[in-house]
Amino acid sequence: MFENKKILVLGMARSGIAIAKFLSKYHNEIVITDLKEQEKSVVKELEDLNIKVVICEQQENLIDESIAIVIKNPAIRKDHPAVEKARNLGIPVINEVEASFSFLPKDTTIIGITGSNGKTTTTTITYELLKTLNRPVYLAGNIGIPLASIVGDIKENAILVMEISDHQLMDMKEFKTNISVLTNLSEVHTDFHGSYEAYKQVKKRIFAHHTKEDIALLNQENQDVLELTKDIASQKYYFSSKRPADIYLEKDKIIYKKEEIINIQDINIKGMHNYENCMVAIFIAKTFGVTNEAIQKFLSTFKGVEHRIEYVKTLNGRKFYNDSKATNNESTIIALKSFSEDTLLIMGGLDRNIPFDSIAPYLTHVKCILSYGETKEKIKAFAEENHVDSVVLDTLEEATKKAYEISKEGDVILLSPACASWDQFKDFEVRGDTFKKLVNELK
Ligand code: ADP
Repeated sequence: MFENKKILVLGMARSGIAIAKFLSKYHNEIVITDLKEQEKSVVKELEDLNIKVVICEQQENLIDESIAIVIKNPAIRKDHPAVEKARNLGIPVINEVEASFSFLPKDTTIIGITGSNGKTTTTTITYELLKTLNRPVYLAGNIGIPLASIVGDIKENAILVMEISDHQLMDMKEFKTNISVLTNLSEVHTDFHGSYEAYKQVKKRIFAHHTKEDIALLNQENQDVLELTKDIASQKYYFSSKRPADIYLEKDKIIYKKEEIINIQDINIKGMHNYENCMVAIFIAKTFGVTNEAIQKFLSTFKGVEHRIEYVKTLNGRKFYNDSKATNNESTIIALKSFSEDTLLIMGGLDRNIPFDSIAPYLTHVKCILSYGETKEKIKAFAEENHVDSVVLDTLEEATKKAYEISKEGDVILLSPACASWDQFKDFEVRGDTFKKLVNELK
């Protein structure tokens, strides 16, 4: 399907570039396009492979009957003029994962992890646990590693662990996993898909082409997950933080097939949501024969994925956590629920005019909110309304230093901004890195 064809790649993000490069090995005529100017070195590398790079606004002008396949970036909407034109001409529109999928060795065992929250953490833990096996294991997908960038190197009898987003699922046709996980469902990305219902139906595609030979691992405590998966063909297994299931939490123990695998006190990352992520990873690991010792060894030291309630360090009895990925109230609530210690909370960032009220019930252990950035005054007003001390500062640097200055031994100092970073930072990664650097410079 991907040989001697004219292929248009829409979007020059990491995945577009990776698939263009990969498919250039198969005598295809490839055009790659983007709205934005690209780095010279990237363009040169592509042109050296005979890939044509076109930077333009009207990408629909690049589409005519000579194009056999359009491979689009997952973030491009289905009503994009180029996508609509391709459809009208009957040209298949797929994405990079779908294209790469057909090149996988047939005996690859694919694990696909999706859900509204917890994808990256769950995928990372699953991959790390499976790596302890004596078998080739690979990580790819929405986690920042395009499948196209590794597919050519995948050995026989491998396990491929993939984080899959709803945006990616939208353009999947043949893609099929052996094990699919739906961590949870909540109302996100409704603007992109049009409605929550449409979003859920897209998520359901993670089980596409499943038969009873394939496994679905589902969240027993999420009503929408249970509803959505009623009629899937997979063998269904469940995880639960509340009641007996195929893997579940009982008091402080994670139980799998009547056996205690680990006590949550021995898991380094904290919070019920993280124990759920661990349960998913443990279930999959046990399915492949990973030992309890290997599970315990990894989970007792794993610091969490960067910027997600990531433990930074303990300084003079104060524990610092970086939760820069928390760009909305829901994520900050999850972070606050993960601690019982007295907490100094650093919040602030881009002002989207969203009230902070939903965070109020979770402030019982917060002794001070330090705010900075565009939302600093709104956060101060929110703290005052809820009778929590507050300090207003201009920058993250000032807020971090102040938090340390007023903290006591045993306190948690948590950056969980509940706002996007773009008023002062390029992205949440830079914000989190800045925080960690500041913390590491404190004396
Ligand atoms: P995703 O890749 O789906 O965005 P991440 O693993 O990156 O998920 O976690 C992002 C944030 O989502 C975390 O900081 C936390 O606030 C929240 N989160 C993580 N795991 C879960 C979960 N199992 N249930 C609910 N929220 C979660």
